[in-house]
Amino acid sequence: MPAHNVTMVLLYINGEYRLATVYADGFLPEALQFRPSVPLVDIGANLTHESFGRDLEAVIQRAQAANVTTMIVTGTDLAHAEQAVALAKQHQGLYATAGVHPHDASHWDTNLERAMAALHAMPEVVAVGECGLDFNRNFSTPREQELAFEAQLALAVESGLPLFLHERDAGQRMKEILHAWRDDISHAVVHCFTADRDTLFGYLDLDLHIGLTGWICDERRGHHLRPLVSDIPLERMMVETDCPYLLPRNLPAKIKGRRHEPALLPWIVREIAQWRGISETELGNATTRTAQRFSVFPLNLKKEY
Ligand SMILES: [Zn+2]
Repeated sequence: MPAHNVTMVLLYINGEYRLATVYADGFLPEALQFRPSVPLVDIGANLTHESFGRDLEAVIQRAQAANVTTMIVTGTDLAHAEQAVALAKQHQGLYATAGVHPHDASHWDTNLERAMAALHAMPEVVAVGECGLDFNRNFSTPREQELAFEAQLALAVESGLPLFLHERDAGQRMKEILHAWRDDISHAVVHCFTADRDTLFGYLDLDLHIGLTGWICDERRGHHLRPLVSDIPLERMMVETDCPYLLPRNLPAKIKGRRHEPALLPWIVREIAQWRGISETELGNATTRTAQRFSVFPLNLKKEY
């Protein structure tokens, strides 16, 4: 890697001088840079998060250098969905989702509904969401969450777009609601799946897709997911960073600020492949193909996968 990525500094520690390496803000340590042979799709990147405000161009370049050719920027409320669309207009390989996160469900009204419907008609928007249910923190009441969720299910039916779903501690209710809508909606992915086997099988019975993040790299709270990855058919599995959140714990070097970014997706693919007992290439290929079938967007790929 070019030398300007790192700075050498002389530190005086315990009576002696030591040479130390400091990684310039915005660069990835060399140990974290690797390029898989197959193009990957990050189906959930929160690139409108303020932490990317200063160096987004570099973040996107690093993703492309890591063969993460396509990123779907998550829109979690009106302002962020509009920003996600603006980013997708500006960058090849970027697409947007537009929805209202369950945390913000209390803001749902007819004006918001109209604004979302207008976004769903834009060519950059490839899914309705992030929407769903989160009974873990209940920032909006369960009733408000269900109202906003069902309204967005109706928008998905109208637009024909797939859904990008968020569910936390609400698997049972989510399955009940989706069961009622299943015949009318197209594809739907439960992003950042972290629930148990029963919930997983319920989702697969509903023919939903499953989004896997670096949660599985966490030996403390992601342990239960490891045997489950073999139960998810490859044609239902997609991968995502959910960056800047959920920095994987399997990285061989530390990152200043602990900000996650799309260029690190290959490490998540590596971990999932390992637990599934297949090669990274096979898993990368399969998840890219699944993402391509999931939605109607071109994947910024030179050839068909
Ligand atoms: Zn989420």
